[in-house]
Amino acid sequence: MLRLLRFLKPYSWNIFGVVAFLFGQSIASLYLPTLMADIVDNGMMSGDIGYIWRFGVYMLIVAFGSSICSVIGSYLSALTGVGFGRDIRNRVFVHVENYSLHEFDKYGTASLITRATNDITQVQTVLVMGLRFMIFSPIMMVGGIIMALVKDRHLTLVLLAALPFMIIFMGIVAGVIVPMFGKMQARLDRVNLVLRENLTGIRVIRAFNRQRSENARFEVANRELTDVSIWVNKIMAMMQPIMMLIMNVTTLAIIWYGGLRVGQNFLQIGDMMAFLQYAMLIMFSIIMVAIMFIMIPRAQASAVRINEVLDLKPEIVDPVLAKQPGDQRGQVEFQDVTFSYPGAEMAAISHISFAAGPGEVTAIIGGTGSGKSTLINLIPRFYDIDSGCILVDGVDVREMTMHDLRRRIGFVPQTPILFSGTIAENVRYGKDDASDEEVTYAAEVAQASEFIVALPDGYDSEVAQGGTNLSGGQKQRLSIARALVRKPGIYILDEAFSALDFKTDARLRAALKKETTASTVIIVAQRVGTVMDADRIIVLDGGQIVGIGKHRDLLDTCQVYREIVSSQLSEEEIAG
Ligand code: ADP
Ligand code: MG
Repeated sequence: MLRLLRFLKPYSWNIFGVVAFLFGQSIASLYLPTLMADIVDNGMMSGDIGYIWRFGVYMLIVAFGSSICSVIGSYLSALTGVGFGRDIRNRVFVHVENYSLHEFDKYGTASLITRATNDITQVQTVLVMGLRFMIFSPIMMVGGIIMALVKDRHLTLVLLAALPFMIIFMGIVAGVIVPMFGKMQARLDRVNLVLRENLTGIRVIRAFNRQRSENARFEVANRELTDVSIWVNKIMAMMQPIMMLIMNVTTLAIIWYGGLRVGQNFLQIGDMMAFLQYAMLIMFSIIMVAIMFIMIPRAQASAVRINEVLDLKPEIVDPVLAKQPGDQRGQVEFQDVTFSYPGAEMAAISHISFAAGPGEVTAIIGGTGSGKSTLINLIPRFYDIDSGCILVDGVDVREMTMHDLRRRIGFVPQTPILFSGTIAENVRYGKDDASDEEVTYAAEVAQASEFIVALPDGYDSEVAQGGTNLSGGQKQRLSIARALVRKPGIYILDEAFSALDFKTDARLRAALKKETTASTVIIVAQRVGTVMDADRIIVLDGGQIVGIGKHRDLLDTCQVYREIVSSQLSEEEIAG
């Protein structure tokens, strides 16, 4: 929590304002009961109407000033708290943007979302409360005690007797509630997780008739969160009446004992009334401080979770001294590359060596799970390899900046991802300043213009969140257009044709070929038809290269390739 307070720096003036105005409010609040005592004891007792009027108006002015201070103080503290929350959210967002894929796996999307929203809100709430009460309460407490002592020292003893009860009680409450808060956030994570899975997987859930079991799963997560929340709230709810009881008993005691002292002429009635108000102020401040002490651990639990996110240093970072590759455009070379996912026993790919240059099409084929996606994900440095090296344009990918590296690459991921916005915006994602002509041209090459033009708003049609209003093949073509518009030196297409019919697949590849004569193209595919005419085919099996060469050669030399081919093509097609 303390470490997060560094984000308060830009708000020093605001905080200064909060302190000043709340100080004003405290002084006014402390002064009011004394004024009232004056009116009662000096004005009413002697029947001096003029005195009552004068002091009454004076009292009103002080009360009004107090309210103004309170409003401005609250406004400034809210302003500070909200700004503070916004700044941390920004910081978390920017930081998470820099995470490599490892770090995402570490906390999980659901938890990252809770941390960036709910956890920050918790800290923010406590900060706003803290700004108000951490300043106001101590002043009221100390000031109240001093004023009470001035009014009547004997009567203060009554107050002194009540305080231990309050403190012990609040201590017990804090002790019970505080450990619950960490639990509460973890369970909130869980609810978010199940909810997210259900919302994204709704089709599968429907198709497999899993609604009931999913409902049950959500209900468990939901109930666990509810249970712990109810527990906390029960204790909180119990706190209030008990506090009221203690306060009322104290009031009674003060009135009784105060009455005695008034009877003995040690104390005036007005002073006794003022004393009563000071007693209330003191006890009220104690409760507020106690609530703060209960709330702070809650914010603390959240602050720890936020700091975890901020402290996790991305594993993949830019080199200190970045190298600038030469003029080559699109050279990719793997030298004995081995890579395993963190925590995996076996290497996902091992001893991969090959080179691809501009004007060449390199195709990667292999069974599911053979490591095709893993291999190409290493080129934009989504992961760092265990041994060997990957050179792009003659420079190790770890020795250039990620921006410089990725600028050279047009990447089409296996699952096409589109963003909410128009079609044109989605294509322009590849190149911010692309002209309309560039966008339409890229779409044409990607064989997407046909369906785009048929849409009601053409290129300005909205893509729904996650691209749900488009078919798989349409999404694939848009994501290819997005890569094309960049005119990169290296194209990486991960099963980018898998959802296309054979005709479109062939047309697209022919158009692509014309477009990419000067670039290096790396295609991952399952279909033999897609890879057959590549300049180089790499056959992967179990993360290893078991064959590399042209279609014809591989048919003769590579058993795995022959199997793949014979499972897809007829004898004549193979021979032809
Ligand atoms: P392909 O694209 O050829 O179907 P992948 O490259 O996606 O295969 O996967 C290769 C292997 O790596 C698989 O055995 C898979 O279980 C594993 N793998 C893929 N992604 C991850 C990941 N993020 N974490 C751990 N293991 C992974
Ligand atoms: Mg794959």
